[in-house]
Amino acid sequence: MSRIDLLLSVRAYLERPHGHFIDGQYQTGNGPAFGITDPATGEVIAQVAGADAAQLEAAVAGAQAAFRGPWAETTPYQRGVVLNRLADLIEAHGEELAQLETLCSGKSIHLSRLFEVGQSAVFLRYYAGWATKITGETLTPSFPSQAGERYTAFTRREPVGVVAGIVPWNFSVMIAIWKIAAALVTGCTLVLKPSEYTPLTLLRLAELALEAGVPAGALNVLNGTGEIGARLIDHPGVAKVSFTGSVPTGLKVGQQAMAANLTRVTLELGGKNAAALLPDVDVAAAVGGLIQTGYVHQGQVCAAPERVYVPRARLDEVAAQFAAALGGLTIGSPLNEAVQFGPLANRAHFDKMLGFFELAHQEGQVVCGGRALDRPGYFVEPTLVIARAASDRLLHEETFGPLICLLPYDDVDELPGLMNDSPFGLTASLWTNDLSRALRLIPQIEAGTVYINMHTFLDPAVPFGGIKASGQGREFGSAFIDDYTELKSVMLRY
Ligand code: NDP
Repeated sequence: MSRIDLLLSVRAYLERPHGHFIDGQYQTGNGPAFGITDPATGEVIAQVAGADAAQLEAAVAGAQAAFRGPWAETTPYQRGVVLNRLADLIEAHGEELAQLETLCSGKSIHLSRLFEVGQSAVFLRYYAGWATKITGETLTPSFPSQAGERYTAFTRREPVGVVAGIVPWNFSVMIAIWKIAAALVTGCTLVLKPSEYTPLTLLRLAELALEAGVPAGALNVLNGTGEIGARLIDHPGVAKVSFTGSVPTGLKVGQQAMAANLTRVTLELGGKNAAALLPDVDVAAAVGGLIQTGYVHQGQVCAAPERVYVPRARLDEVAAQFAAALGGLTIGSPLNEAVQFGPLANRAHFDKMLGFFELAHQEGQVVCGGRALDRPGYFVEPTLVIARAASDRLLHEETFGPLICLLPYDDVDELPGLMNDSPFGLTASLWTNDLSRALRLIPQIEAGTVYINMHTFLDPAVPFGGIKASGQGREFGSAFIDDYTELKSVMLRY
């Protein structure tokens, strides 16, 4: 298979002047313009103008009006229908969205089709099913009756209001859909701030949402640098912030939201996710699984494994199998359907990875990779390192890139200490057929999700989020209802 041809609609879309989607209108920006770079070539492919203060005001005002007006008047059943229609439209325009996303992020075209299109539709349909199932409870207060009167109480789940959704560059459609679906299904409205590296797909998605029946103003997209995100958090019209991104920015966002108006905040942050191979491990299955989940999208996945603890007796075998498989990956243009490993998403991240490679050469044993590729764009080699000691920086700092670090251990009892030796706690995995041993380890592992014989997979029915410095709050399952609604109590005397 070879490099696919860009659709005419994608070529035409790139030529458009891009800005924002405010109150149902595609608008050019009044703020400073910036270029969008294709990370596979290093070339600028589109221009976007950022938002100014007036556009930010208009977006929040539009979201407030839709919250009180048309979206409040939409029945739960109709909300579900609209979300299902948006899923249909995303699939109908799937190739266009996938190509745009690959051009902006360097994600291989099959991953863009699978996640940004396919999984986005799956998540939307899952949340659409919740529309008619958001309930309160009936309670009986214990007040004594003086003259035969009775008391009853019930609770209502009411939407919090306008949500500011701040989205990173690694899965710009799918992560935005998590926020859009949870907000709209509970009756909230949104202003989204995409990453400045990947603004185009969300602008296109907002057009599709309008076509699906999301009323004008209920879904707005504001582009610009992180400063736009910061100004949104401070806005008194914003009732909740849902942020996905790095730990340092997340810390700032959380503090700022509290200081602004005690604004509610959900934080989905980074990790330094541990995997442990138990002594009975099937090495081929574990290495295959860790390569599939650790190097997907060049390792730029928050839930992906970055450090792997290996029984000392199996270390050479594990390292050799990793090296053989990584050496066989097809590297190249993400628009080529045969390619398994593309570029990093942007220049800043490429430079950061080069710093980690330098560290790997200084403090570890580089088994394979560890260099940039000599070609245009932001390509690096998939890399495997054996650490010298548990204190090595490479076992503690999130690389968010294609670098897995192995460390041998001698006794299974060491594993909880090694795996928990991190400020983060997003995901972890155990690779074994000894389920009894794995199930006994699970309560000792500090992570929001623990996998057995798998890693990184996300499902809309299974809550996802981090503990420790990996975040606050949960997405998916029923967990989002607490985050996007206020619980109101009603008491009656009769
Ligand atoms: P950043 O934290 O740099 O940015 C995330 C978003 O926040 C971007 O839209 C960014 O805009 C915006 N932003 C930057 N500064 C501010 C600010 N002061 N106030 C409000 N918004 C701001 O993360 P990246 O985009 O670099 O994403 C990579 C990181 O995200 C990784 O560390 C990864 O672990 C984490 N991540 C976590 C996930 C999870 O679910 N736990 C999922 C995916 C990624 P701009 O880009 O324009 O600067």
